[in-house]
Parts: sequence; structure tokens; C-alpha cells
Amino acid sequence: MIIDLHCHSHFSDGLHSPHELVQMAVARGVQYLALTDHDTVAGLEGIRKACQEANAPLQLINGIELTVSWKKQVLHLLGLHLEQPETLNRLINKQHELRKERARQIAEQLEELGMEQVFEQVQDIAGHDHIARPHFARLLVEKGWVKDIQTAFKRYLTRGKPAYVPTAWVSMEEGVEAIHQAGGLAVLAHPCQYGFTRTKLYECMDALKASGGDGIEVVSGDSSPQQIKEMAKACEDFDFLASSGSDFHGTGLSKMAMGQQAALPENCRPVWQNWGIEEQGSL
Ligand code: AMP
Ligand code: MN
Ligand code: MN
Ligand code: MN
Repeated sequence: MIIDLHCHSHFSDGLHSPHELVQMAVARGVQYLALTDHDTVAGLEGIRKACQEANAPLQLINGIELTVSWKKQVLHLLGLHLEQPETLNRLINKQHELRKERARQIAEQLEELGMEQVFEQVQDIAGHDHIARPHFARLLVEKGWVKDIQTAFKRYLTRGKPAYVPTAWVSMEEGVEAIHQAGGLAVLAHPCQYGFTRTKLYECMDALKASGGDGIEVVSGDSSPQQIKEMAKACEDFDFLASSGSDFHGTGLSKMAMGQQAALPENCRPVWQNWGIEEQGSL
């Protein structure tokens, strides 16, 4: 069974349209797919339509990847299998305003460093005003300021660098609650990507559990076998459900293609256990 519960479209910082994602999913034999754009559900209707029009052998799961604050950290919280995505609109609007304001500030910082008309250009790259840092990274590459996206982050866009702007995203607790109100499951995305020590990561998972969180992403696109083992163990320790997703952003942008991430370890309880998906899942 090929399942991918984490990917992005051009409604956030992905490169592809929902229509293209459906075609790629089918080409790769993906049977279950969740589109999880950052702080928006704007692509969900389009991907459903594209799937129906193509009569694709693909089951869609409504998703979102919320940017949340926990202590002084920024975390990503997946909302999966949302029954009423529109319930999230209030929170989404709030995040969208924060994102727009942050984009203006990042643009100002880059202008102080000598770039011109940054806000206008970054909106052109994104094709909308739901701006994420990778859009700025792409602009920096296009303008020849850096050689690649990674360097753009390393020199300008990550915490402590000149164009980093701290933002008061919604709290992890609010995120979990909103996802639950929308009928979904709240899952900590890519736990090994925050640069936490083991102690800090467990403290974070403790807080997630205390907030009513449902699970963690045991397998993410860039997980090592060792990390997968450790996250499977964390699932047991916290009685969490386990999720699996590629975090695909686009060909050339992501190392991992859609649906190509490693399988969940045997000892995990999959997050999809009550979604009516059989282990041998045929459609
Ligand atoms: P934002 O939500 O606007 O802060 O952007 C976060 C996104 O930036 C993540 O979802 C990744 O797609 C991307 N990202 C974050 N850190 C890096 C990095 N070091 N290199 C490349 N992309 C990154
Ligand atoms: Mn992203
Ligand atoms: Mn993420
Ligand atoms: Mn993601």
C-alpha cells in the first residue's frame, strides 16, 4: 500500500498545482494522499476536483500543516483527515495576516541589504500573497544573491540571520484544538527536523500529549533509519499514532518523491487505523 500524508502544492510553498500533484501521485502508484499546505486549505477543493476529473485511482485525505509556537520554538503540526476543513477558517485567517505582515518585514530587511522591490517580486514568484520563506529563497537564487535555496536559508532566512523575522504564530494547544474541532487528528510533523536534543524533543512530545495531540510523523521524507526507529519508540512511550509522509514540495526542490518514503515500522499504530483503509488496501 502506498500512502503519503504530507505534501505541498503551489497554494503554499510547493511548485505544483493540485492537478499536477494528482498526475504525479497516479504515476507513482500512490493510493492515499493528503495535501498538507502550510496554514491553508485553499488547495483541497482543487485537488478533489482534479482527482474526480481524471477519474484517478487515488483517495484524498484532507490535510493542513499548521505553523505553531511552543515555548520559543516554531513547530509544524499536521491536521489529518479533516472532516470539516472550513472550521479552520478563523485560525487560517489569523495565520494569513501574520504571514503577510512577516513577508512585508522580511522584504524590508532584504531591501535594507540592497535588494529592490522585494515584496512585489516575491508575490510574483508565489502567485499569491500567502508568502513562505522558500519564495524569498527562490527570489534570492533568481537574483544571483546565493547559489541555491539551502544557502539562501543559511545566510538570510533562518533564525539569527539578517532577514529572519520572529512571528507570534498560534500556540500548539490552539492548533490541536482547532484541528480537533475540524474533525481531524493532530500530528507533530518531522520531529527530528527542529534540531532539538532528545530531552527537548521528549518535553515537546509531552506538551503535545498534554494538549491532546494524537501522534507524530515517524517517517518523513528525509528521515534516517535510525530516526525512524527512535520515533517509533517515542510513539510507544507516549502512546502516539504514527504517520508517514514525503513532505514533497516539487521536483527539483525535494529529495524525496511523492509516496517514496520508507514504510512505517511494524510496531507502530498507523494514524490511518480508523479511516477504513485496509492494510492490503486496494481501491
Ligand atoms: P515558513 O512557513 O514561511 O517559515 O517556511 C517554512 C518552509 O521553509 C518549510 O516548510 C520548508 O519548506 C522550508 N525550509 C525551512 N528551512 C529550510 C532550509 N534550511 N532549507 C530549505 N528549506 C527550508
Ligand atoms: Mn514548506
Ligand atoms: Mn514542515
Ligand atoms: Mn511540509
